[in-house]
Amino acid sequence: MKPLPLPALDARTTYASCISKTRPAKAKARLKELEDQVAAAAADYEKAAAAAALHTLGHLENQPDGDDENATSNKALISCYTSRMARKGSAGRSLYNQLLQAAKDLCPLCGHGYANTLDHQLPKSSYPLLAITPANLVPACLTCNHAKGENAPASAEEQTLHPYFDDITDHVWLAARLTEPPEPGVSFYVTPSPGWTPTLTARVQQHFATFKLGKLYAAQVGTELGALNDYLRDKPYRAIADELQHRAASYGTRNSWQAALYRALAASPWYVSSGYLNEWDT
Ligand SMILES: [Zn+2]
Repeated sequence: MKPLPLPALDARTTYASCISKTRPAKAKARLKELEDQVAAAAADYEKAAAAAALHTLGHLENQPDGDDENATSNKALISCYTSRMARKGSAGRSLYNQLLQAAKDLCPLCGHGYANTLDHQLPKSSYPLLAITPANLVPACLTCNHAKGENAPASAEEQTLHPYFDDITDHVWLAARLTEPPEPGVSFYVTPSPGWTPTLTARVQQHFATFKLGKLYAAQVGTELGALNDYLRDKPYRAIADELQHRAASYGTRNSWQAALYRALAASPWYVSSGYLNEWDT
């Protein structure tokens, strides 16, 4: 997970830009009437997100229409995002691009995929008032966007990490485990910091599970290990140990799958002595 700065865009200005070209004037006026509610919802959202309490925003769920099946505001707000912000050439598209570009192409949720979509941290289907809230729009790769789907957290523990509000980069939380023969392989797991609260630990685990990061990272290992094993094949033991230590150290305390992999390889007497000669089940 890669933290990103909270967007400098505020919800009211974003909403006003998105609806600015709406025609006819009557439709625009109807959307304009919702502006105060959009701004208030965004303020509630930012406060809750900063306190890791997005599960407490039940009062915004399905609002402003609530149970009124004939009301049209929810639909109008959702299409404000799809037609007036995400659609190419729409009034809000430059703001959409601005949010997306902050990720510099890398998906902050998995730290691996290409970020070419915006994901609603709280889904627009359940929270129409947050459909265009910048703080609720997180750059994501398509896989992560789909993995999260329309799910909203029902408890503090169920909240996946929020790149604008959560930063766990000061702790090495990603680790790899080597499995020795008969089926040599690599798996990834979370190593919680003793300084984390139980809630944060649960959230990191939830994030790891939701975006299937263990599977995603394990899928990358085959190519890396194939090349590494070939490279190490004819080297003496000492050179292999030194090479692995060097690679692990060069990744430092990063939480990338490569860093976790090299830390595990360098720390494995079995891999250093003969593991690199195996056919790996990856
Ligand atoms: Zn991703």
